[in-house]
Amino acid sequence: MNETGQQGWIFEGEASGASPRDDLRVTPMMSQFMEIKAANPASLLFYRMGDFYELFFEDAEIASRALGITLTKRGKHLGQDIAMCGVPVHAADEYLERLIRLGHRVAVCEQTEDPAEAKKRGAKSVVRREVIRLVTPGTLTEDTLLDARRHNYLMCILRPKGADELALAWLDISTGDFRVATIPLSGLGTELARLDPGEIILPDTLLADEEVAGPVKHSNAPLSPLPAVRFDSTTAARRLADHFAIAAPEAYGLTSRAEIAAAGALLDYVSVTQVGRLPKLSHPRKDEQGGTVLIDAATRTNLELLKTLTGERKGSLLDAMDLTVTGAGARLFASRLAGPLTDPAAIHARLDAVAFFHGERNLRKDLRRELSRAPDISRALARLTLGRGGPRDIAAIGQGLASARIIAQALVPTGLGTMPAEIIAARECLGQSDQGLSAEIAASLKDELPLMARDGGFVREAYDKDLDGLRALSDNGRRVIAGLQARYISDTNFKSLKIKHNNVLGYFVELSPAAGQELLKSPHAANFIHRQTMANAMRFTTTELADIESRMAVAGERATALEMEIFTKLVARICEHADLITNIASALAETDVAAALGELAETANLTRPKVDASRAFAMEQARHLVVEQALAQSRAGPFIANDCHVSAEEGGHPIWLVTGPNMAGKSTFLRQNALIAVMAQMGSFVPAKSAHIGVIDRLFSRVGAADDLARGRSTFMVEMVETAAILNQSGPRALVILDEIGRGTATFDGLSIAWACVEHLHEVNQCRALFATHFHELTRLSQKLSGLKNVSMKVREWRGEVIFLHEVGEGAADRSYGIQVARLAGLPPAVLTRAGQVMQMLEENAHKNPASDMAHALPLFDANAKPLPAQHPALAKLAETSPDQLTPREALDLLYVLKQLT
Ligand code: ATP
Repeated sequence: MNETGQQGWIFEGEASGASPRDDLRVTPMMSQFMEIKAANPASLLFYRMGDFYELFFEDAEIASRALGITLTKRGKHLGQDIAMCGVPVHAADEYLERLIRLGHRVAVCEQTEDPAEAKKRGAKSVVRREVIRLVTPGTLTEDTLLDARRHNYLMCILRPKGADELALAWLDISTGDFRVATIPLSGLGTELARLDPGEIILPDTLLADEEVAGPVKHSNAPLSPLPAVRFDSTTAARRLADHFAIAAPEAYGLTSRAEIAAAGALLDYVSVTQVGRLPKLSHPRKDEQGGTVLIDAATRTNLELLKTLTGERKGSLLDAMDLTVTGAGARLFASRLAGPLTDPAAIHARLDAVAFFHGERNLRKDLRRELSRAPDISRALARLTLGRGGPRDIAAIGQGLASARIIAQALVPTGLGTMPAEIIAARECLGQSDQGLSAEIAASLKDELPLMARDGGFVREAYDKDLDGLRALSDNGRRVIAGLQARYISDTNFKSLKIKHNNVLGYFVELSPAAGQELLKSPHAANFIHRQTMANAMRFTTTELADIESRMAVAGERATALEMEIFTKLVARICEHADLITNIASALAETDVAAALGELAETANLTRPKVDASRAFAMEQARHLVVEQALAQSRAGPFIANDCHVSAEEGGHPIWLVTGPNMAGKSTFLRQNALIAVMAQMGSFVPAKSAHIGVIDRLFSRVGAADDLARGRSTFMVEMVETAAILNQSGPRALVILDEIGRGTATFDGLSIAWACVEHLHEVNQCRALFATHFHELTRLSQKLSGLKNVSMKVREWRGEVIFLHEVGEGAADRSYGIQVARLAGLPPAVLTRAGQVMQMLEENAHKNPASDMAHALPLFDANAKPLPAQHPALAKLAETSPDQLTPREALDLLYVLKQLT
């Protein structure tokens, strides 16, 4: 209950008949509200009043629209109605979640003193309130607000003046993961696509810098621009040194001032949003560039790595691959898939762990069963260190530590194979799990636990003698009340007499109205004090009842205080072990990922790829995991495996030009090879009979056509922007997938662009590439380009129908069968007949004017083509002059000038 009653009449001028002067008066509570709101202008203010968080003025209008809750009016401010809406405290998380998802931030303002204390300062004094937390999308810790299977990074972006580099820092406060990197300016979009931050902080001035603002806005992450002073590197260095108790941030390899400023600004932002408290954070680790495959946003979308083109997880590669059983495992899995490695040794270390679990079937099953019982201890730890945890978080840590020990003991190879280094390291870490702490947690907490410590009743019986004593007192009180009820019944002879309890009256005696009236006339009337008359009951109290109640209340309060003390001690013990718990959480996640990939390797029939420093790309009987699973689910027949050899090694054909009819499986083939590269380099087995991949450092895919109208780009413009990125950035280690380039414009423009692109890839980029096209003219390029090979999707024609074999064969396709596919799609017969006639006409004309010698007619794209030399200055000077208008003297002067210029 607050100081103003349950509903909280905070503003003047509500009572009917309020004078206009009242309208203009500002109450003390109103001033308090205004002051707090002024300090948090960018947040919706959740102002605690009793059992509700109320929102006022514009905040109320925004929240009521966003949440679909009723907007009411409460009193007046400066003569105007005050808009208000409220959400019940017990359901606040749900409303918070919706607001945060919509990109709002919320300042949670609590009553920070007892209303009784405030009253001591005077009847009209206002209870002290403070913002205890700013809830922003990148600083969430609650399970209800977070996706258990996704990281939630808060990121800072800085650009040193005039530099072509950016400093990035990002951290997940729900797990403590903290990283820093310096990246080229052009790589921002790619990094944002990989990390998918939940919120970005940056100096507000950077929003005017299109090279930064463009990719940032395109990432759709909520932005929190801040004044530039918040990014000062000297303050940041001090802040980092203080927080991590180190002499200087250089100790963690943070060398540039911009990196230090970015990391320090993140710490500051977290501290501000958590109002002074900081969770347990790992020290900032430098993310070295080049360690992961660069995959830009368009490629990720096209390949549907983490989500489908429509933004769903179902249907993505992640969904098809991720068999992890813990939240932390799922987060690690997603980040590995989002950032495949480039170092063959590191990739093989991961593959060794997968191979171990692939071979150890029984051990894997047992382990996964135990892992599925291990709770998300890193998120529980973050909540506890922020003072936001409850008994369930403590229990989670106890259970997690116990599981870690069981898993460490179980991690013994049963076969002959040796244990890979990665698993040995995980086992050692898990084995360090503190038995004392988990045993203490298990002994102290009940099996069924409340969410919040203040709800009480979570400490197990027999754990603390004093607590047991106080509980007995309060239980005893209940017995005494039952005895009292029996005595009152026998004394008064009212069989229906009952002792009940509610929050307003506390304990009271209840009788029917008739019996109540009789009681008042009886000799016992003196003992019973009348409190309330209802339609169907009369309520009384007695001095005995009040006495027992106060004794019970005292015992209850002391019991709650004691439970809070036990809770605080357990939290302190856990915080002492924070480093160990963090390490165990990572070891559990790593074990989960390796075991999940072992399971996938078996269930999806995958094989270990060979990944090395060569420039090979050789797939035998490879499959598309997602399409294969979809076909199996719909029982639409088997997936047809295909080979692919785009090795950029001596005698290889690094570019395959794939032709074939519509619907024959070109896109599927292209994508499956890119996906296999991603799978192999994240450390997974792959869907192929064998796979040899010379490590890929950059993956590009341009598949299908998509408008980006929001950014003012047409289909063709998007296609060309993405193609430009590919041709400008692909190096000898890149893998490029180009599907139907040049289809969004007129045929000859499109063909010419596609033609030039293939030449450029072959001559300049010299990367490995798969290029699918319906421009059959392109296949003639194989006569000129030694590294280009024509392959095509095989089909069979049967009674005018086309049957797709989904097999990749040598040679070029001769036609597209577009009209046959259109028939399958149900185009009206009249249209199909007419299309057949038109096609015949076009083909006849084409024969009269053959483009067959195009390959010979067009000179090969010359990678080293030099620009035409600029005109000689003497010639330029001559061109400027008109001899007829020159005097003999001027002509002689000109001769001297020309002589000088040569
Ligand atoms: P278009 O030229 O019209 O874009 P496409 O040649 O790119 O067509 P895909 O989209 O790759 O064809 O494939 C069409 C359908 O064929 C897929 O949805 C899938 O169901 C099936 N398919 C593709 N490849 C295979 C395969 N190897 N085995 C079995 N089914 C396949």
